[in-house]
Amino acid sequence: MFWTGELIARSAPVRRRFTPERSALADHAVAAYVGLAIGDALGATVEFMTPNEIRAQYKVHEDITGGGWLRLKAGQVTDDTTMSLALGEAILKKGHVDAHAAAEAFDAWMRGKPVDIGNTVRRNLVSWRTSGNPEAPASEHDAGNGAAMRVLPVALAYYGQPPENTISASRAQAHVTHHNTLSDAACETLIFMVQDFLAGRDAIEVERERAGPLVEKFPVFAWDRKHSENPSGYIVDTLQAVFQSLFATECFEDCLIDVVNRGGDADTTGAIAGMLAGARYGLAAIPRRWLRGLDELTRVRCEKQAEALISLAGSPSS
Ligand code: MN
Ligand code: MN
Repeated sequence: MFWTGELIARSAPVRRRFTPERSALADHAVAAYVGLAIGDALGATVEFMTPNEIRAQYKVHEDITGGGWLRLKAGQVTDDTTMSLALGEAILKKGHVDAHAAAEAFDAWMRGKPVDIGNTVRRNLVSWRTSGNPEAPASEHDAGNGAAMRVLPVALAYYGQPPENTISASRAQAHVTHHNTLSDAACETLIFMVQDFLAGRDAIEVERERAGPLVEKFPVFAWDRKHSENPSGYIVDTLQAVFQSLFATECFEDCLIDVVNRGGDADTTGAIAGMLAGARYGLAAIPRRWLRGLDELTRVRCEKQAEALISLAGSPSS
């Protein structure tokens, strides 16, 4: 009887699993979110290593294997993804970005004992608990990448909205933990870049019209051909590495491999580059081994939240 089963399996018409067609917009939104998580999971393995140490151990680090200083399971993500998910849930609950709701969501996230947490995030969430003010005091020292790593839900929920609404939403979420001019400029630039890619604009335009003006306004962000290695958590170092990788490569895989092998804050450069490259290239461009390698529950949460946020953007009430 074996052969019967085999025969039926071979000759039966190909049945596709039912998956509703996603629009190109939703596809790229999902790819941005899954890309963020993949970059985080891939980069976390080599976070705080130097490029030389990475080369000695892996030649090229290109698989999602877990480990790293956080001793992660293969496919596990860190604060970059989990804070984004927490923010996205708060946005979906309210229908827009609300600073109090964001602060509560981040606090609940912190109480859940995340695998990693930035110093600025912790300090300002702890003071929020006593002050009740969801806007941290402005500080020129809080120029870390902790607010920029979690901007994606804002980019999706405010897609198609006037830029001034997007900017105030970006600041409301960012200032819960990072109230800093450079951080703000980076967050807003990243959001507009994601939205441009979702709208199908090409990388040359996005570089000229988004990264260019950022550098004009804040020359400290200027990057050149000199390969930036060991990017720190300082938002300027982070964006320089991400932009070099994003604009010097032509596919999702090359961009992520390039950025995480620079070491340093590799989970966060990976997350931000993965978000931008996902929005740029779409889901079909993401290697299957990475999609399969990502923790499945996380992948599904990212997909569902991306779809919900992008349909929130399209709904007339938002
Ligand atoms: Mn992290
Ligand atoms: Mn990091």
